[in-house]
Amino acid sequence: MGITLTHEHVLVDFAPIDSIGPNRYDKYSAIMKVLPYFEELKRFNVTTFVDCTPEFLGRDPQLLAELSRKTGIQILTNTGWYAADNMRHIPNKINNMRAEEIAAIWIGEAKNGIGNTGIKPGFIKIGISNSQLTETDKKLVAAACLTHLETGLTIMSHTGPAKGAMAQLSILKENGVDPSAFIWTHAMGEPYKENILSIALMGAWIAFDGIDEKTAPMIHAKDLLQFMKSAHQLNRVLLSHDAGWYQPGKPNGGEIRAYTALFNSLIPQIMREGFTDKEIDQMIIKNPAEAFAVRVRKIVK
Ligand SMILES: [Zn+2]
Repeated sequence: MGITLTHEHVLVDFAPIDSIGPNRYDKYSAIMKVLPYFEELKRFNVTTFVDCTPEFLGRDPQLLAELSRKTGIQILTNTGWYAADNMRHIPNKINNMRAEEIAAIWIGEAKNGIGNTGIKPGFIKIGISNSQLTETDKKLVAAACLTHLETGLTIMSHTGPAKGAMAQLSILKENGVDPSAFIWTHAMGEPYKENILSIALMGAWIAFDGIDEKTAPMIHAKDLLQFMKSAHQLNRVLLSHDAGWYQPGKPNGGEIRAYTALFNSLIPQIMREGFTDKEIDQMIIKNPAEAFAVRVRKIVK
């Protein structure tokens, strides 16, 4: 995978689920809008870009494929559903579905491709709606576990604080899935570093994916990385911006946040504070390759 951005977006559409679809934007304009931001990534030798936009939020594998062909940057898309944002992006039929039935849809995408695109997902992306998991949240996590056990795809979950991550890891445990198959997305939202450390020690991936040029998030990110380094847990850390993205419905797709603060600011700053090349490579090359490896990770008894 080489240098990898593990959580970004090319396009996100928060439109209601009944109106969402590629008819809401012009593919060519969307590609032209994000193209310069991808060209910038080539300067930093980024070879893989993980697109975390799930189904019903504007996932468009053909758009990603076109962008990948144009830029030479490899892009991963995903399977899975997203219950965050008050379950506005999840089909109503979920209420009458069992986890096994949901998993069957996702496994189908992993085996046969998404729709008729022939493009297969590179990971599972889910989102929970509450740290206190709802019935729907629990069903999604269980479905993600079943999909993982069948396909080996890694589970990435949009999660707030540690409480929600812990609750999900219990469901993984019930299903015999090892924590190393789980990426805790938005871990920067947990206020207590000790809680982040506990989850890292369990073996889950800790995604600091809110890297931003702005002063406060930059200081926060550096502080978290120094903490993880002193705890010898840099081997659990993933870094990204959660940036982008083309927004259908906004004039010319709205404003895009660049995918470069990591390379322009964070890495140079932490290197001045004593981080080595090896530690940087661990976080942006080695960890992503291991986290996104397609491999069933069962709990070893
Ligand atoms: Zn995101």
